[in-house]
Amino acid sequence: MMNNIFSVLVMLIFAGSLQAQQMKPEETEDWSRQPPVVRPGNPGEPPSDAIILYRKAGDAVNWVHENLESIKWTADSVLTVQPKTGGIKTVRSFGDCQLHIEWRTPTEVKGSGQGRANSGIFLMGKYELQVLDSYNNETYYNGQAGSIYKQHIPLVNASGKPGEWQSYDVIFTAPRFNPEGQVVSPAYITVFHNGVLIQNHVRLTGPTQYIGIPVYKAHADKLPLSLQDHGNPVSFRNIWIREL
Ligand code: MG
Repeated sequence: MMNNIFSVLVMLIFAGSLQAQQMKPEETEDWSRQPPVVRPGNPGEPPSDAIILYRKAGDAVNWVHENLESIKWTADSVLTVQPKTGGIKTVRSFGDCQLHIEWRTPTEVKGSGQGRANSGIFLMGKYELQVLDSYNNETYYNGQAGSIYKQHIPLVNASGKPGEWQSYDVIFTAPRFNPEGQVVSPAYITVFHNGVLIQNHVRLTGPTQYIGIPVYKAHADKLPLSLQDHGNPVSFRNIWIREL
């Protein structure tokens, strides 16, 4: 019995190597799609094909108040939440994307838990990547910085100190819906926090919610990206996006 299995295995390996010998190297070359050339940015600079969302004061034109009025946040070299004025969103809409965004919580530490420098980055205006001062600040783990709010705890806490600039690099895949409005493919997200992997292609179960279990509802293929006013003066800069 063992002998038989052994001889079958030898035959399979022999057949495989014979096939490999018969193939030409060209037969496994793929020339179907030439990747477009992108010039990578210098450190801190966006790549050549990025859509700039905020790099300087004039870039405020890329944003509107959540009620479509002009934004009420401070918009100079950086963008800063003006507490209680409401969130902001991009003029353009996006689906699958690569996003780079830098953020800074106030140097002066105020409040605790969810009340300490809370903001958020909402992909498609619906799926929140939490912004919070999570440096020595405990809260529920699926609500700390780098969490997909109330859905995914970050793999590690890569938070910088209050007052330091931090970065998120995000790869987001939008959900797909069929004509009946059912989700056929959920949203996925990968996030690096200050260069450290904190969300590894995690599946979203629906729009992130403060209360209750998330449920998908069909929506457009592309929607604006939004930033949250949670009542704390969090700043943002160097925001760019690449459509995928
Ligand atoms: Mg938030």
